[in-house]
Amino acid sequence: MTAFSDRATSSNTANLAHSLDWIDAQLPAARAELLRLSSLNSGSFNVAGVNACADRMAELFAPLGGSAERIELAPFRATDDRGEWRKRPLGRALRIRKRPDAPLRVFLCGHLDTVFAAEHPFQIARVVDEDTLNGPGVADLKGGLLVMQLALSALERSPNRERIGWEVLMNPDEEIGSQGSAPLLNEAAKRNHFGLIFEPAYADGGLASSRKGSGNFDLVVRGRAAHAGRNPQEGRNAIALASAIAVQLHAMNQPDAGLTINVGYLHGGGALNIVPDLCVLKFNVRTETHDDEQRLLDVVNAMLRTANAHEGHALELRGGFTRPPKPVSEGTARLQSLLRASGQQLGIELSFRPTGGCCDGNNLHAAGLPNVDNLGVIGGEIHSDREWMRVSSIAERAKLSALLLLRLAAGESQWS
Ligand SMILES: [Zn+2]
Repeated sequence: MTAFSDRATSSNTANLAHSLDWIDAQLPAARAELLRLSSLNSGSFNVAGVNACADRMAELFAPLGGSAERIELAPFRATDDRGEWRKRPLGRALRIRKRPDAPLRVFLCGHLDTVFAAEHPFQIARVVDEDTLNGPGVADLKGGLLVMQLALSALERSPNRERIGWEVLMNPDEEIGSQGSAPLLNEAAKRNHFGLIFEPAYADGGLASSRKGSGNFDLVVRGRAAHAGRNPQEGRNAIALASAIAVQLHAMNQPDAGLTINVGYLHGGGALNIVPDLCVLKFNVRTETHDDEQRLLDVVNAMLRTANAHEGHALELRGGFTRPPKPVSEGTARLQSLLRASGQQLGIELSFRPTGGCCDGNNLHAAGLPNVDNLGVIGGEIHSDREWMRVSSIAERAKLSALLLLRLAAGESQWS
């Protein structure tokens, strides 16, 4: 029995306690499921793996009812080493909707993909100890998919469920920036009241409050090839110019002011007796405000104008800010306080703090949807082969989201 049920007095609270105990009882099955899901590779570009993961999730959600759809996404576009656009296919998104006309509509989201490609050595989940699993995506985000499924299952078992409609989106491309699923996130933001995203909580159980914005840029620098010994003066060295720009970009870092720039990729050249005519440079920018975005674009564009004025060079900038900063809006603050209250009922003191990371919560905020985005399992060292998660947090966090929904459904708390 949960601590909460000790205080149960009315039939409503008894119902709530019953739902929460039901979640606890599902933990062993959820743990076994997570071990299987983690060992099923779903690197962002492993289309078959991502689709297989969606198939399994569709099976797990089937008992909840709702209408499920598989949605094809536009291919992922990126600049290749020749400076050309390269398109790569993505797996399908899985969307499930139930009671779309209910008075209160909630959007729940989690990604199917992981950062571990099919060729990556980290493929199999393992049990570290009674309460800890290590495996690809155990925290980010497959554990969260199970939290979401359990929370909604608890709602569907409640007599008050009719008051809440829900829309679930499992997208295949969050780890590569949600380029393809961005339109689905925007659609969802327009027809729901708030969003719950199941990214992992911090290792201490805390959640993110504000998030920085992020932009990815590709710079294609072209020059002119020439023989390095016979006529180097006729060449225009693309690597030298790209490197000068890389140094300037790096110098623009202002971590204290919340602006960071990471030159993460530089590729060009080949034979050492040829002046290289092509260099591809890629960088990521993190910002705290929309003004920072504009300020940075102004500086970068001025830099490019100067570089483009060099005879024999041509530069092309691609990409942009795809995830605007996510400050804590009024709606998000309200959602945080409802979650805090649910946490207290479960004996969990929830804390919120800012992060430089970003996720689909940024997209939802930009589209006007209040949301909290670390409602998945407790874990850490994500994006590395040391990724771990707390098994018990599957039930703990499912109860947290379930209690939020059940209290709203019972009219014990109000959205607005
Ligand atoms: Zn994630």
